[in-house]
Amino acid sequence: MQPISSIDYKTLILETNGYFGEYGGMFIPEVIRPNMEALTATFFACKDDPDFIAELKQAYKEFSGRPTPLTPLTTLSEQLGGAQIYLKREGLNHTGAHKINHCIGQVLLAKRQGKKRIIAETGAGQHGYATAAVCARYNMECVVYMGKKDYDRQRPNVFWMETLGAKVIPVMDGSQTLNDAVIAAFKDLIAHPEDSHYLLGSAVGPHPFPVLNTYFQKIVGEEIKEEMQQQLGRLPDICVACVGGGSNAMGMFFEFLNEEAVTLVGVEAGGRSSKVGEHAAKVNYGKKGIFEGYYSYFLQDDDGNISNTHSVSAGLDYCGVSPILAYLYDQKRVQFANATDVDTLAAVKQLAQNEGIILALESAHGLSYVLEQAPQLSKDKIIVLNGSGRGEKDLFITMKHFQADSLKIFMENQLKSL
Ligand SMILES: *Cc1c(COP(=O)(O)O)cnc(C)c1O
Repeated sequence: MQPISSIDYKTLILETNGYFGEYGGMFIPEVIRPNMEALTATFFACKDDPDFIAELKQAYKEFSGRPTPLTPLTTLSEQLGGAQIYLKREGLNHTGAHKINHCIGQVLLAKRQGKKRIIAETGAGQHGYATAAVCARYNMECVVYMGKKDYDRQRPNVFWMETLGAKVIPVMDGSQTLNDAVIAAFKDLIAHPEDSHYLLGSAVGPHPFPVLNTYFQKIVGEEIKEEMQQQLGRLPDICVACVGGGSNAMGMFFEFLNEEAVTLVGVEAGGRSSKVGEHAAKVNYGKKGIFEGYYSYFLQDDDGNISNTHSVSAGLDYCGVSPILAYLYDQKRVQFANATDVDTLAAVKQLAQNEGIILALESAHGLSYVLEQAPQLSKDKIIVLNGSGRGEKDLFITMKHFQADSLKIFMENQLKSL
C-alpha cells in the first residue's frame, strides 16, 4: 500500500469554485461573464456524464491515436547507472504533442453548447495548429490570432493552420507577440460571446480553463498509472514534466496527487540566465499578480510590469503559470526546478543518440533534469518523464544550434529554387 495524502487534491481541484488556495479566479470583463459561466456550467454537467466521457475517449483513440506508449529508456538508464527512466510518448499524438487532448475536449464542450465558431490565440503556432486540426474534424469555423512578429517567424505553422481551413489573423498591436494575441482573442470573444468559444491552450487563464484543461489532460497520468501497473506492477517514484503554462504537467501529475509516495517535479525554462527577460521560470523567479484573467505567479519587472521571457523552446516562452501549480507548489506537493537552453539542447542530442527518439525542446527541459537526477538514485527507483511533444517541429532551431552551416546551405538552396 502507498501512503495516501492527507489532502484529497483530486477532489479539491475537480470540485473547485475557481480558486486553488489564493490562486485562480475569473478576472474578466463583465460582458463575457455569461459566456464563461455558461462554459463552466457545461463543463461541470459533462465531466461526470458517461455519454460525454465515451465521446471524449473515442475521439482520443480514433483521432489522436491514444493510448500513447510508456517506453523504457533502457540504454540511457544503463549508461547513467542509476534510476530506471521511462518516457511517456505524448509526442506520438496527432499534431505531435499533448495539446490535442484539451483541444478535442474543448471542441466537444463547444459542440454541446451549440457553438459554431472557435477563437484561439497562439505564439509559436503549435496550439493554433492543434486547434485548427480539431476544428476541421468537427466542422467548426476557426479563427486564430497571432502577434505579427510570431506570424512572420512561424510561417510554416501559419501555412498548416491555413491549409486546415483556419483563418489566421496577424495582430499589429503592442510588441506583436503572444500577449497581444491574447488581448485580440478576448476582444473577439467580447464581440461574439453568443456563438463563439475561446479555446484556451493551457491550464491557465480565468476559471474554468485551469480545471477544464487539467480534466482533459488527466488521461496522460491515468495511462501512465495503468502502463506502470502492467509493465512493473507498481507506481513510479518520480514524475517529471516541463512547465510552460502547466497543461502537460497537470495532465501527468493529476492522477498521482493523492499518492504521497510519488514525487512530482515541474521543470521550467531557465533560458540563458536568471536575469529578468532571459528565462521563463515563473515559480522560481515570478511574483504574484493578476494578469490575463487569473491570479498566479507572473514574471514581472521591479515596477510590476509583465517582463519579457526567453526560452529556446517556444512552448515554454510564456509569462504566467497555472494557478493550480502555484497552489500545489505552496502546498509543497509539486517541486520546481529549471533547465537552461544549453543543457536542454544537449539532452535532445543524448536521447536521440541513445534511444532513437527526437524529443520536443519543451519536454527536453524535463529530460535535462532527469539526466542530472538519475545517476544519484539507486537502480530500483523509477523516474517517468512526460515526453509532451516530438522534436521534428524544432528542426530550424535545433539545426541552427547543432549545424548552422548545413542550415545556411539548405536555406540558400531553397531560395535559389524559388
Ligand atoms: C505547448 C507545449 C508545452 C507547454 O505547455 P504546457 O501547457 O505547459 O504543457 C510543452 N510541451 C510541448 C511539446 C508543447 O507543445
